[in-house]
Amino acid sequence: MPFASLGLSPALARAASDLGFAAPTPIQAQAIPAILRGADVWASAQTGSGKTAAFALPALQQHQDVLLAQPRSGGARRVHTLVVVPTRELAAQVGEVLRSLGQHLAQPPKVAVVFGGVSINPQMMALRGGADMVVATPGRLLDLVEHNALKLASVQLLVLDEADRLLDLGFADELNRVLALLPARRQTLFFSATFPDSVQALAGSLLRDPVRVEVATLEAGADGGATILQRAIAVDSSRRTQLLLQLIKQEGWERVLVFVATKYTAEHVAEKLYRAKVFATPFHGDLGQGARQQVLDEFKADRWQVVVTTDLAARGIDIAQLPVVVNYDLPRSAVDYLHRIGRTGRAGESGLAVSFVMPASEAHWHLIEKRQGLSLPLEQIAGFEPTEVAPPPASGAGGVKGLRPSKKDKLRAAQAAAAAGNPGESPAND
Ligand code: AMP
Repeated sequence: MPFASLGLSPALARAASDLGFAAPTPIQAQAIPAILRGADVWASAQTGSGKTAAFALPALQQHQDVLLAQPRSGGARRVHTLVVVPTRELAAQVGEVLRSLGQHLAQPPKVAVVFGGVSINPQMMALRGGADMVVATPGRLLDLVEHNALKLASVQLLVLDEADRLLDLGFADELNRVLALLPARRQTLFFSATFPDSVQALAGSLLRDPVRVEVATLEAGADGGATILQRAIAVDSSRRTQLLLQLIKQEGWERVLVFVATKYTAEHVAEKLYRAKVFATPFHGDLGQGARQQVLDEFKADRWQVVVTTDLAARGIDIAQLPVVVNYDLPRSAVDYLHRIGRTGRAGESGLAVSFVMPASEAHWHLIEKRQGLSLPLEQIAGFEPTEVAPPPASGAGGVKGLRPSKKDKLRAAQAAAAAGNPGESPAND
């Protein structure tokens, strides 16, 4: 099915084809016609499903239609589309997709991308003369409104992207304040990978008679879904870097994203690999925004073979053709596991996700497997058979890490509850 048959203009279909999109992904095929009809959409979709273009294409088309009906007659541009995202990286990425998909339009929109953690002044300058589409993290968006750099009263289309992550990161309060600035009559598109109660409550409060769009999860291999081969390898804690090196060399992995638990481990493992002549670099929250972007750009440009990261890179970041993801340390939860392995096998390509399972983390691994509905053979690699002894399980439910909510989980739950109906309680910042 070609893009044009979804009701998109030839300029947009051409831009999609320029990006190498031969046909719509399942989420695009389902969501685009509904959005063009003006319906609210409740979409459960992972990053990697093609969700960005699923809202970007119809948003661009609607904006063109508005310009045709009411030609611009001087004056500042008024914000038509507002996309709220949880992270700077995702903001930059969505902005890029909007700009490239809009490039052949008769009147390409002005797209402004704003996020915290960097100076506000250049963003205020960029907003002079207004903008047609704004992609923003919630805190900075509010700052800009307070500085009178931006008005949201004209927004006709609101997109909440990765809504679960927005609540996870404690943006509930900011989100409520943003929502209060928007016109009640608008179209709302709600994208989330997961729908815990708090996210459902938020969707329920924002959407009117929504069209529900669900796409197959990562395991689905057919019809454009991603195909990810998952492997689990038993190894001693102290031998993981050696095993990683051996796998990179023997299996010829050319581009690998390695997940670790701490910033320190990210630095340490990257350094060891680098000393063994594998081009590896760390990526974590202590790096400045510029340095983070540089690492990502260089990784995409093949400058680095391996990026060793904390969970910072687990969501939202899109690196095309990332064939291998390694869990050097296991993720905390099954949901985090899904987000991490979702970095590979994107848009129908095949990917490989390898998890290192140490004797001490075996119980935790089985819990992740159970929650994912997986049952993988625990492989042993010759020369790396584990010898460490697992510590005896602690008594009670606390024996397996992840069963009991951590302090952070409790904080998030409280923030999510606030977002679901009790604004004003939740602390958050960019
Ligand atoms: P997203 O889920 O929006 O992060 O998109 C994941 C990846 O899929 C990105 O690299 C997109 O460029 C790519 N993509 C999106 N739509 C299509 C399509 N119709 N065909 C092929 N690739 C696509």
